[in-house]
Amino acid sequence: MANRNFNPSPSNKRKRVVIIGAGIVGATLGYHLSRRDDVSLTLLERGTPGSGASGHSFAWANAFGKDPREYHTLNRRSLDMWYRLAHQFEGDIGIRYGGEMRWENSPDRAAQLRQRIRQIQAWGYPCRLITRDEMLALEPHLQPGEVLAASFSEADVHIETDTFIDVCLQSAYESGAVVHSETEVTGFVVHNGSITAIKTADTEFPCDVAVLASGVQTTALGSLVDVRIPQQRSPGIVIQTTPCAEVLHNVAIIHAPPMDAKRHQHLHLRQLTDGSLRIGQGTQEGINRDDSQQHADALLDRAKIYFPAIGDAKALPTPVGYRPMPLDGFPVLGFTKAVPNLYIALMHSGVTLAPLVGEMAALEIIDDVQVEWFKPYRLERFG
Ligand SMILES: Cc1cc2nc3c(=O)[nH]c(=O)nc-3n(C[C@H](O)[C@H](O)[C@H](O)COP(=O)(O)OP(=O)(O)OC[C@H]3O[C@@H](n4cnc5c(N)ncnc54)[C@H](O)[C@@H]3O)c2cc1C
Repeated sequence: MANRNFNPSPSNKRKRVVIIGAGIVGATLGYHLSRRDDVSLTLLERGTPGSGASGHSFAWANAFGKDPREYHTLNRRSLDMWYRLAHQFEGDIGIRYGGEMRWENSPDRAAQLRQRIRQIQAWGYPCRLITRDEMLALEPHLQPGEVLAASFSEADVHIETDTFIDVCLQSAYESGAVVHSETEVTGFVVHNGSITAIKTADTEFPCDVAVLASGVQTTALGSLVDVRIPQQRSPGIVIQTTPCAEVLHNVAIIHAPPMDAKRHQHLHLRQLTDGSLRIGQGTQEGINRDDSQQHADALLDRAKIYFPAIGDAKALPTPVGYRPMPLDGFPVLGFTKAVPNLYIALMHSGVTLAPLVGEMAALEIIDDVQVEWFKPYRLERFG
């Protein structure tokens, strides 16, 4: 996305909110805040928007594997909100519809899949078991090998995060927000226990509310005002490829089992509108630090077994991405007790959760309400 350094225009708007971080969470929140007349909004991003975890993400919006039920429901609500968001904009905002398809080739895993589908069906998730013929009708290019159980979750989508972040920031800008990229926040001015300005190397941005939507750096920024936000380190790799033949005609996301379970993990794959692929292995939370070309080539070779038509694709060098990951794996949302005008928006599954968090956090920040859905996710749970 183009670098945007705009001069703030004089504003008579009321609450001055500064968001630190223009990943998918900061950008979505920025979009919602900028729709309010009673907000004067500034977004500060140290790199280019989307260059943090959002740019490394597999970006599957879903509630498939989310437990317990309360957290599943939070993700499910947000997944549904992607559809509403799409109606608020004209044109492409980066949502890729089609659902998620997976299958298993071992008896144990097949039994687990059947059980999971029954569980989330009972929770009202739109998914079902499908036959091999139905799989091939959905994706004729697929060569799945042995299929002992398969499922289709029709509501799941994937997001082209660069496109979506760009759309949000453009909309915020048109509504009067100021967006500074290549602008690193280095500290805070604190007066009587509250943040009165955000410091960068060159200047200070006065504020009434400061929002940390800063991904993995949220912990370091919080510590500057003695707010402890515990995180675990969670590296992951989603490889990218050159554009290739269109192999996903209907389904947005594929999860394939390993051909050789002793040597390999499950593989997940999506295809972008430019024809390039994003491929990861293991679970959505799996730890992986191997950003070697050898690993990327091997992953792509495995994908080619399922989709021989992508034979000409090449794996591109792709660095490790770090998931923003609170210590217990659940989001941290809300104002802090220690610094009452500091709002935290830190989470894994931020691509799934961005629509809900963006809209509800805007209510908490401007309307002074406590959204009950966020109750389990307050920072104070860490003591
Ligand atoms: C490998 C991998 C796979 C994933 N798969 C999925 C998935 O399938 N589905 C899903 O829902 N989620 C997935 N996630 C998680 C999801 O990508 C993240 O939860 C989401 O991108 C977080 O968005 P964010 O805006 O909070 O953080 P980020 O995208 O990291 O944005 C934070 C921004 O803050 C900026 N920043 C930091 N410090 C400062 C500072 N001092 N000053 C100014 N700016 C600063 C950074 O430059 C960055 O751009 C995955 C993540 C990874 C890494």
